[in-house]
This record gives sequence, structure tokens and C-alpha cells, in this order.
Amino acid sequence: MPSPDPDCLFCRIVAGELPSTEAASSERTYAFHDINPGAPTHVLVVPREHVTDAAAVGPEHAGVLAEMLVMARKIADSEGLEGGYRLVFNVGEDSGNSVPHLHLHVLGGRPMGWPPG
Ligand code: 5GP
Ligand code: ZN
Repeated sequence: MPSPDPDCLFCRIVAGELPSTEAASSERTYAFHDINPGAPTHVLVVPREHVTDAAAVGPEHAGVLAEMLVMARKIADSEGLEGGYRLVFNVGEDSGNSVPHLHLHVLGGRPMGWPPG
């Protein structure tokens, strides 16, 4: 497992060095509420290990990725997202990706519209 990056914002949140509002937690993942929510529910699910982004994911990450999806469903259940929810991985500049630690956005609580803006 790669070492936590001391300069990585989400590694520091996972380590408890920076505050966050926990939504759920599992052995290999941590979920917390986005500081600038784009929907009534906006939770970020991250691997505890440092992975840069979805483009850096390989077969060795299969287990933790599945755990991230299970966490997303648990959050949808606990947040009452019976109407559905959206899962987003941003990759690269055009997507607006701003934090280089893999994170799955769980968005819900209102109609999302498609395609996204
Ligand atoms: P990205 O644009 O990289 O896909 O998503 C990064 C997300 O992290 C953004 O939605 C942003 O609001 C959120 N974010 C950035 N810094 C912090 C922080 O310090 N705490 C929390 N909870 N969310 C953050
Ligand atoms: Zn990191």
C-alpha cells in the first residue's frame, strides 16, 4: 500500500490531521461531507490509501473500488436517497478535478439533470 502523502489534503483528512464531517467509514475507505456541496447530499468516498485519480486505478485496486461503491449505497440508504443518486469521478483539468486523491462524489436529494453542465 502506498504511504500517505503528507502534502495530500485527503490523506490528511483520512489521517485525522484535518477536520471533516464523517458520513461513513470502512476498513479501506472513508466518507465525508463535501465542504462546498453541489446538492442536498454531497458526500466524498475516498480510499484510505493514496491513489491519485481514476486514471491511476489498476486491477490491484479492484477490492477497494468495490468497497467504495458499497459505501456509496450505504450513504444513499442512510441519507434517504430513495429517488436515486449520481456517482462521479472527475479526471483531469477539463473535468474540474481539483484534489489529486481519488474520490467518488455521491450526489443526491434533487433531480440531477443530464447531461451535467
Ligand atoms: P474534485 O473537483 O477534485 O472532483 O472534487 C473535490 C471536492 O472536494 C470538491 O467538491 C470540494 O468542494 C471538496 N473539498 C475540497 N477541499 C475540501 C476540504 O478541505 N474538506 C471537504 N470536506 N471537502 C473539500
Ligand atoms: Zn492522498
